[in-house]
Amino acid sequence: MWTLASESTAGDAAPVAARYFAASGGARARSATLSLGDAPGTLLLSLTDDATTRDIPVRELDASERFVAATRTVQLAGGDMLEIDDGRALSRLLTAAGNPDAIVTRWQHSKRAALTALIITIVLAIAGYRWGLPVAADFLAHHTSNDLAALIDRAALAQLDHQTDLTKSRLDTATQDRLRQKFSELTLSLPPAQPVSLVFRRMGNVANAFALPGGTIIVLDGLVNMAPNDDAVLGVLAHELGHVEHRHGLRTLFRSAAVSALAAWYFGDFSSLATVTATLTQLNYSREFEAEADSAALLQMQRHHIDPRQLAELFRRIRDQGGIAAPPKDEATSPEERKEKPGKRWSIPDFLSTHPDIDRRIERFERAGRVSAGKV
Ligand SMILES: [Zn+2]
Repeated sequence: MWTLASESTAGDAAPVAARYFAASGGARARSATLSLGDAPGTLLLSLTDDATTRDIPVRELDASERFVAATRTVQLAGGDMLEIDDGRALSRLLTAAGNPDAIVTRWQHSKRAALTALIITIVLAIAGYRWGLPVAADFLAHHTSNDLAALIDRAALAQLDHQTDLTKSRLDTATQDRLRQKFSELTLSLPPAQPVSLVFRRMGNVANAFALPGGTIIVLDGLVNMAPNDDAVLGVLAHELGHVEHRHGLRTLFRSAAVSALAAWYFGDFSSLATVTATLTQLNYSREFEAEADSAALLQMQRHHIDPRQLAELFRRIRDQGGIAAPPKDEATSPEERKEKPGKRWSIPDFLSTHPDIDRRIERFERAGRVSAGKV
């Protein structure tokens, strides 16, 4: 009755049994078979009872059921209809005939489905940004070699020295040596694999300190000068070591880099990648990271018998002075002007980056100090 199409295209697309309903025939079903037609892109419909056949271009088919495995109805041009129980076989037949089923096409044409797809895409994008990106960034941060981290630090420090108002420290050698010695004692309880180093710089009277991603900790003269004693400075260093230990710098850096890379990919604007370098020198940790660094600092201070109340006192002095002394104001407004005067570009990272929380932090270190003093 029906003939198979050329062997080369027939493949495993076997003929499919169908029930045929003529538009003029009411509800009477006639037994039929659907198979590949001789001409490309056609199917051959063969009616069993009277041996008539009909060529049907696949593009005229309208396979309306979306579940492949279920019984599917196929609308034919002119109002005729087929019912096919073996949905999978029909799919194979349509694919072999050059129409990879109508499901996807129909789905794309459905407004509701398109809207659903759009919403799912947005939700996935947000979820990826909110959860996937930090997880990926954290994974990278924890698998970054010390060599690479050290390289990042060197580049960042060079950039800071070159493009900001950082200058050579004016602290006397004895003070530097003493702090270095105490710092190295402090680092003894860190994981041995983590390299750390201490660098002294000056920026006017700015009292601040910050850690670079690879473990380089920069202390500004202003901080040492404002501290009531070495314990307060060590408290700050312990806080910065907390950032290093928990890889906050690398994690922040990779998150920012990923966002920039995504933006570059999406908007086709690769200039945003340049901001990654800027991020290196302007690390602004999340409150979560700050709290974690404070916790790490408290632990270290406890281990090394450093009184947290000295750190609280340093905080108090900085607060009473009206916060960190503002860095020299950048008069330049346009990026071009900034390029011409790179020495003026600066933003304060870390240590006091959670400035509004300073009262809470004072209270936390005060309380911890009272508790440990009570134990002694
Ligand atoms: Zn911090």
